[in-house]
Amino acid sequence: MSFAFDIQARDGRARSGVLRTTRGDIRTPAFMPVGTAATVKAMRPESVRETGADILLGNTYHLMLRPGAERIARLGGLHRFMNWDGPILTDSGGFQVMSLASLRKLTEAGVRFSSHIDGSKHVLSPESSMEIQRLLGSDIVMAFDECPALPADKARIAASMRLSMRWAQRSRDAFGDRPGHALFGIQQGGLARDLREESAEALRAIGFDGYAIGGLAVGEGQAAMFEVLDHAPQMLPEDRPRYLMGVGKPDDIVGAVLRGVDMFDCVLPSRSGRTGQAWTRRGPVNLRNARHRDDPRPLDESCTCPACRGYSRAYLHHVTRADEIIGSMLLTWHNLQYYQDLMAGLRQAIADGDLAGFIAAFDRQRAEGDIEPL
Ligand SMILES: [Zn+2]
Repeated sequence: MSFAFDIQARDGRARSGVLRTTRGDIRTPAFMPVGTAATVKAMRPESVRETGADILLGNTYHLMLRPGAERIARLGGLHRFMNWDGPILTDSGGFQVMSLASLRKLTEAGVRFSSHIDGSKHVLSPESSMEIQRLLGSDIVMAFDECPALPADKARIAASMRLSMRWAQRSRDAFGDRPGHALFGIQQGGLARDLREESAEALRAIGFDGYAIGGLAVGEGQAAMFEVLDHAPQMLPEDRPRYLMGVGKPDDIVGAVLRGVDMFDCVLPSRSGRTGQAWTRRGPVNLRNARHRDDPRPLDESCTCPACRGYSRAYLHHVTRADEIIGSMLLTWHNLQYYQDLMAGLRQAIADGDLAGFIAAFDRQRAEGDIEPL
């Protein structure tokens, strides 16, 4: 195994620990901010670090098209290119090629497609995805998989999962032996328990440094997702990190940690920061709302981020309504800070053996809602 994973505390199925990489420790449960195109939008990397993030995510599909993996490699790799010296996880490109590219042609070999930027022709396969992620220099490489568009019937989900398991083996073979770099496999199988079990068995037989749960948070709803998470994490090796891809809202993350998930990524905190939406311990707050126009109070008086320490709700309302760049900067920072504070709280609660108490307080504060308007 490339990286040691020390599970330091358990509370029920939840675990807290440390994934030790050559570029630094990742405290788990971990939230990974998304740096799609070699940037977490509106944030400098040192600011992302200040929020408490240990690891960033980069998107293979975007980076291979622009500025290109070979160019990034010539310029010293993704860490140096974007000025982030901590660990980076890159996705395989599989999900985004299915959601963004045009003229896709899916075969056993891989996916041929046209770039959504300039129409140029490309191929993503297990082998090319491993090569691109190697050129980027990512610390945690994701196996190349296929994500069926939903809704899909069980036969289609099963066929897609089995293709992804053949691709998982090809990813493992193409990845080879790369000390200091980890390869994660991705469980598929939609909402069907037997398919999830079949997929987990295939992945365990191949052997990976970590295991992702894929194919969720694609519109099935929280109840259905939690039903899968009631059993899916337990199918994966107990001693390796488990990563729930593309999740999610704060309450999704809390429910998934309770069910034994260790790692998360989502564009939600950064994307909503650019649309005036803040995530707080009292639930979501829309700064565009007129109720904030004359409010001199901070967004959250207990938050340590620059948006909450230096600015009023009235100012955040103004810059958001005026589409000023600083509005995106401040709210993205706040949202990432809130997410990292939430993860720190979860880690502490698991260490204290009081996850139930933490979740009760989390639910209670959200149910109370935002502070009363002035
Ligand atoms: Zn804040």
